[in-house]
Amino acid sequence: MRSVEEHQRVVASLIAPRDPVAVPLADALGLVLAADVVAPLPLPGFDNSAMDGFAVYADDIAAATAEHPVRLPVADDIPAGRTDTGALKPGTAQRIMTGAPLPAGATAVVPVEATDADFSTTATTVAIRTAVRNGQHIRRAGEDVAAGTTVLRRGQVLTPAALGLAAALGFGALTVLPRQRVLVMSTGSELVAPGTPLLPGQIYESNAVMLAAAVRDAGGEVLFSPVVSDDVHAFRDALVTHTGDADLIITTGGVSAGAYEVVKDALADEVEFVKVAMQPGMPQGSGRISGAGLPAASGTGTPVVTLPGNPVSSLVSFEVFVRAPLRAAMGLPADRPRVTATLTDDLTSPRGKRQFRRGVLAGTTVTGYGPPASHHLRWLASSNCLLNIPEDVDHLAAGSPVLVWDLSTG
Ligand code: AMP
Ligand code: MG
Repeated sequence: MRSVEEHQRVVASLIAPRDPVAVPLADALGLVLAADVVAPLPLPGFDNSAMDGFAVYADDIAAATAEHPVRLPVADDIPAGRTDTGALKPGTAQRIMTGAPLPAGATAVVPVEATDADFSTTATTVAIRTAVRNGQHIRRAGEDVAAGTTVLRRGQVLTPAALGLAAALGFGALTVLPRQRVLVMSTGSELVAPGTPLLPGQIYESNAVMLAAAVRDAGGEVLFSPVVSDDVHAFRDALVTHTGDADLIITTGGVSAGAYEVVKDALADEVEFVKVAMQPGMPQGSGRISGAGLPAASGTGTPVVTLPGNPVSSLVSFEVFVRAPLRAAMGLPADRPRVTATLTDDLTSPRGKRQFRRGVLAGTTVTGYGPPASHHLRWLASSNCLLNIPEDVDHLAAGSPVLVWDLSTG
């Protein structure tokens, strides 16, 4: 049997980044910059007012007090967005709003609260009750960002604030590592789409929805998630129809030891089917597919990873083998946070296999959650971590340290 680490290496070797592309800011959240971003202009772009008030020469109102206000004529009005502001003449004030360009010559802004002005009227004079320092309430051009500064770095994940900064600097798009495009194919003649009636012996399809969500959650893009019957021709037809320019194909089901193992039968020449020493998720496979009507990605074929069909096995297998390399190919932090926690209850584990037991991590303690068998989806849905129990361990007593993958973040 192949070890977990060996199969992780094999799968990782198949998954490669796409070429960087320019993506509109609105689509770039969570993607990773492929190039540094250098400010083409300063921020603020021009000297502007930090307050609603009056632009003045500070010297003109140096003597102003509440008892002896200084009265100045209001020579002009400057709302934010005005582009033709005239110079300030000594001995006058100009009414100015926050963010509006400072008139040439002005040395300070007096907040409206320090005057007798009522902005619901346009008075022709203003009485100023306090002096201001030179430069007070002025935001200087370039005090946030000087033109030519590297403000965002290659490899950085684009957050809302990073996108805001890029927009403020005038970028409509940024060069990023694009999302990996994934085709998720579910197989099984017993599967019926949720929302339609079931016949006896049929079950609702859940892996396509679940794995497509896991791909998106990892930052990838799902091209299609078709469900196909256990028919080799139907399966190959669906591959030909949907592969397109997928970077990765993930299949579920049809890889165990039974008859009608459609994925095994259809991909016998292209995929290496192996047993991995783990529970759940022993039957695995990986390879590249091309030819027979399929587009060949860069001459080598499109990577395919075949996951087992049991819902818990398929999601745990995605987590163990696919998620990290998929994220690495997008430049994203690959691994989930790993912590050592204290087990609250005894656990058993099959000797010779890595067990990924579902669990609930609470602070520094962890509780195994639900039975080990791989069809117990309910427990998986309520767990927040995987317990990683080594191959040579068959029993862990309460109080033991155990390695945990925290699925709640990362
Ligand atoms: P298989 O690996 O195809 O033999 O499937 C193993 C088990 O998982 C069987 O009980 C299947 O019915 C179930 N299964 C396989 N694929 C899916 C799916 N897409 N949704 C729900 N259950 C599935
Ligand atoms: Mg099946």
